[in-house]
Amino acid sequence: MYKTKLEDMKKHVRGENEYYVSDLTRCPLKRVYEERFPELVLNQAYDPTLLLGDIVHLGLESFLRKVFDEGMVKGVLGVEVEKKKSIGEYVIRGRIDALIELEDGERLGVEIKYSRRDIGLPLQHHVLQVKIYNWLYDLPKSILIYITPNRITEYVIEEKVSEEELLSLIRDEKSPRWPWECQYCRFAILCPNKKT
Ligand code: SF4
Repeated sequence: MYKTKLEDMKKHVRGENEYYVSDLTRCPLKRVYEERFPELVLNQAYDPTLLLGDIVHLGLESFLRKVFDEGMVKGVLGVEVEKKKSIGEYVIRGRIDALIELEDGERLGVEIKYSRRDIGLPLQHHVLQVKIYNWLYDLPKSILIYITPNRITEYVIEEKVSEEELLSLIRDEKSPRWPWECQYCRFAILCPNKKT
């Protein structure tokens, strides 16, 4: 499992002026440090908590496949669907957990989050991520699902980010972007902007 995760991470190479959706929902310095210290990034492949999140994703995606394959829900399901879209000189790239098109033509996205803590849901950066997906995949709404040891719940997100908001997220240099971020950041061991 660790090896597979490592090989998967090695495949993630950003193009010039390319931003992952996750780059826009977190501290912008992380993107800079990921280029400069790739060894610290690859180190994450050996983090069991991240692998546990991956396993939860696989489990729920496999459950979705089953309900579509067995006809319990009628429609078309895509999992781990990648998409790129340009905005000015920038390219936004994302991979939503699932895209669903129901029999009646309704389209919706599904984003799955595993969390050890059931506090403050839905988290602001996750809602922002889903709003960006709604823009990227041109969706009227998406479902943000949380799986925690105490609760499995979902939130319907109908808003999408505007292109102005996206550009301002790309250009925003405020670091950290969220007050709690440095506490969980692997670059905190060298970052001069670390907030304690
Ligand atoms: S330590 Fe804080 S400011 Fe520095 S990269 Fe990490 S999140 Fe950003």
